[in-house]
Amino acid sequence: MDLTLTTEQRAFRDEVRAFIQARLPDDIRARLRAGHPPRKQDTVTWQRILNERGWAVPHWPRQYGGADLGQVERLILLDEIYRAPAPLPQVFNTNMLGPVLMKFGTPAQCDHFLPRLANLDLWFCQGFSEPGSGSDLASLRTAARREGDHYVVNGQKIWTTTAHLADWVFALVRTDDGARKQEGISFLLIDLKTPGIRIRPIRSIDGDHHLNEVFFDDVRVPVDQLVGQENRGWDCAKFLLANERTGIANVGLCWERLDRAREIAQQTTQAGRPLWDDPKLRAEIAALGAEVRALEITNWRFLLTPAEQARVPAFASVLKLKGTELQQEINALLARLAGPQGLERRDADELAHGPLTPRYFYSRAASIYGGTTEVQNDILAKALVG
Ligand SMILES: Cc1cc2nc3c(=O)[nH]c(=O)nc-3n(C[C@H](O)[C@H](O)[C@H](O)COP(=O)(O)OP(=O)(O)OC[C@H]3O[C@@H](n4cnc5c(N)ncnc54)[C@H](O)[C@@H]3O)c2cc1C
Repeated sequence: MDLTLTTEQRAFRDEVRAFIQARLPDDIRARLRAGHPPRKQDTVTWQRILNERGWAVPHWPRQYGGADLGQVERLILLDEIYRAPAPLPQVFNTNMLGPVLMKFGTPAQCDHFLPRLANLDLWFCQGFSEPGSGSDLASLRTAARREGDHYVVNGQKIWTTTAHLADWVFALVRTDDGARKQEGISFLLIDLKTPGIRIRPIRSIDGDHHLNEVFFDDVRVPVDQLVGQENRGWDCAKFLLANERTGIANVGLCWERLDRAREIAQQTTQAGRPLWDDPKLRAEIAALGAEVRALEITNWRFLLTPAEQARVPAFASVLKLKGTELQQEINALLARLAGPQGLERRDADELAHGPLTPRYFYSRAASIYGGTTEVQNDILAKALVG
């Protein structure tokens, strides 16, 4: 099996590298390299730079401002963004809602929203999960009752990442109580400035504010903000969740963090000697590197050979499980290397180490979002046992 890139693909990678090198602002690169999450303005600034080339939404068709790139080129671009390191294009806009609108939205919805999603003029968040409805998403209860040309929404969402920074939310709501649970759901676009919406922060273990609860109390949403057909929102949700798979292994991120671990080990001294002098530490970093390389090869194998995808039905679960495990191990190593400095406050000007311990804590959440580890293991077990 030939897993090498073609001449054109290698030329594309060089072009991407040169572009990032020339255009990524130094302060954004430095913040991310130190281990800080990107600020909202970092993501907006960088996404707009990428959007000049259609690379904010590389997989979208050109008619909507994309670059019509295939899966291989898309993964090359994603890898280079991670390795830079630079902020990823805002995922709810570009990977989730955009493709849903192209498949299920009206021409008016596409014309209005797609350019704004690509350029991050509007920031969307994802309102799917509810207390009691996460893995079993179809059991959700937030209700939308039709009243003339509006829906009236009542209920609660939870774990809504960046709701406090967002302009709009795309939400799954129940529009028919009597139907089988997957059949009574609709997909609505809701302006977060609409009266009746309240956002309450959830502080996570890293001490930061990423997550929220969102409450809806008689929120009036115009019917033209329904995407697809009423009661067929599950079709949109299934399509959207399948799109979440690309880049699920986070290989570029693993390489960047491992590279940073090597750098810290070389720069940090203990009893007058660099940590890097310890052969056990070097062996540990080498072993992690071998695992990331194995994951990278597996990822390319699935991507370059569709027959492999068909042969291993749970391939997305394999990538998610192994990618999560490696991310967590590398973040744990970074926290250990940074020692007490890894707890440095995230808004400190001195970026010597950045908040590497909080970042490790937050990486534990990767076992939950995007489909929990237990649910992935279940899918894998079913695929193996048949
Ligand atoms: C950091 C973070 C960000 C998130 N961002 C968003 C967001 O922006 N928007 C959004 O809508 N949601 C978001 N979520 C929510 C996420 O999708 C859910 O947390 C996830 O689907 C799990 O659901 P739950 O929390 O209700 O746990 P549950 O589904 O109740 O699971 C609890 C435990 O039971 C296990 N379990 C559940 N079902 C099974 C099964 N069938 N077999 C074996 N074990 C099972 C799970 O693995 C888990 O260990 C986010 C979550 C996190 C942690």
